[in-house]
Amino acid sequence: MANGSVRVRFCPSPTGNPHVGLVRTALFNWAFARHTGGTFVFRIEDTDAARDSEESYEQLLDSLRWLGFTWDEGPEVGGPHAPYRQSQRMETYTEIARKLQDAGHAYHCYCTASELEERRDAARAAGRPSGYDGKCREVTPEQKARYEAEGREPIVRFRMPDETITFTDLVRGELTFTPENVPDYGIVRANGAPLYTLVNPVDDALMEITHVLRGEDLLSSTPRQIALYKALIDLGVAKEIPSFGHLPYVMGEGNKKLSKRDPQSSLNLYRERGFLPEGLLNYLSLLGWSLSADKDIFTIEEMVAAFDVADVNPNPARFDLKKAEAINADHIRMLSVTDFTERCAPWLKAPFAPWAPEDFDEAKWQAVAPHAQTRLKVLSEITDNVDFLFLPEPVEDEASWQKAMKEGSDALLRTAREKLESADWTSAESLKEAVLAAGEAHGLKLGKAQAPVRVAVTGRTVGLPLFESLEILGKEKTLARIDAALAKLAA
Ligand code: GLU
Ligand code: ZN
Repeated sequence: MANGSVRVRFCPSPTGNPHVGLVRTALFNWAFARHTGGTFVFRIEDTDAARDSEESYEQLLDSLRWLGFTWDEGPEVGGPHAPYRQSQRMETYTEIARKLQDAGHAYHCYCTASELEERRDAARAAGRPSGYDGKCREVTPEQKARYEAEGREPIVRFRMPDETITFTDLVRGELTFTPENVPDYGIVRANGAPLYTLVNPVDDALMEITHVLRGEDLLSSTPRQIALYKALIDLGVAKEIPSFGHLPYVMGEGNKKLSKRDPQSSLNLYRERGFLPEGLLNYLSLLGWSLSADKDIFTIEEMVAAFDVADVNPNPARFDLKKAEAINADHIRMLSVTDFTERCAPWLKAPFAPWAPEDFDEAKWQAVAPHAQTRLKVLSEITDNVDFLFLPEPVEDEASWQKAMKEGSDALLRTAREKLESADWTSAESLKEAVLAAGEAHGLKLGKAQAPVRVAVTGRTVGLPLFESLEILGKEKTLARIDAALAKLAA
């Protein structure tokens, strides 16, 4: 599809921290807009004062920027339909709610919560549909006067047309909803506050949205919104009903829907662990879409070039952290070394880095970075991988020590020290020969021989390539650490 008039929107509510499902929705909308040369509208649905927060609003903006999504209309950038925060558009909603009532598309409902509940239970017991029964569709002036005398405060309810609603979902194909399954619904609270059910389609209409791409959890609101849209067209507020496409559920652990409260779903977690935005987006794009059967790793530009909603798979997508990390690792390797070293910067400082700032050595960092780049899954792993270079002593990791320091390790370490003493310290290859020779002297293969050396020098059984690490750390420190390990073994 190449159509300059595509207008999509990303319209989160600023509650809590952004989560990966939300990011996937933003990504698909953004990619669709960029693919079609359309417009990406960013709107803030902050009509729920009790739950919305300014902090969360700031986080949303910050998250979109970090992910690299630019918006064509929205907060801070403005646009022809400003303001883009619903909390600043309240008069518009009040006015439209009144017009809907004047035209008979909506009405006052005086039912109390307990009355509704009673009738719902009775309907259920009788096996009838349990949604709102339309009681207040026709309220006589006498009833109205009585309700008001009783002090009842009405909500505004939208009158669903008594007809079947069919639409072609861009992802799921043709869907049909019968009237008994879509009862009249509230659009304005008793206190006058407009609800999501009203403000979301009203803004989609006013902002001339052409495609609504959102999570499957919102599918049940679509027939209501289509009916409301028709009423808005009748009022001259809307021009055309947009197309709808519902993105598949994202499943987490145990094949349960990944919930907003699930720690695994928090975007901040991925940022803090050092996911690259491009790695995370690559992974999230695979939750319901693929570039081709044999290509999992691609750039955002490649995605934009290929993306079409029609290719989204309706089946639930499984969130797989291991796969996300593997994809991120590939993106780390795709960076230039300079870019990589710059992106690691936050993890080489407090509060992540355990070394004193003055002990950080830029030359050593530059030397070790290329070796680290090929090994990290997430950037936060950099700290543990290079701390042996900047801490005065290697970290003490008891489990690593127990694992590597076996019977005979002291003899091996003594021989290794001797061979390393006379090795060529400008060549990692020469250091390897030295440890290899020490191993041979004790009947050990390289892998077994290098383990105690690695733990003596770095404190850990796993890490960057050992001989390059030793070369960068330098002869003096390496030998001193082997001596310290020998002393510890002797004690
Ligand atoms: N504010 C709504 C939400 O975050 C938007 C839903 C939609 O895309 O229509 O759930
Ligand atoms: Zn009622």
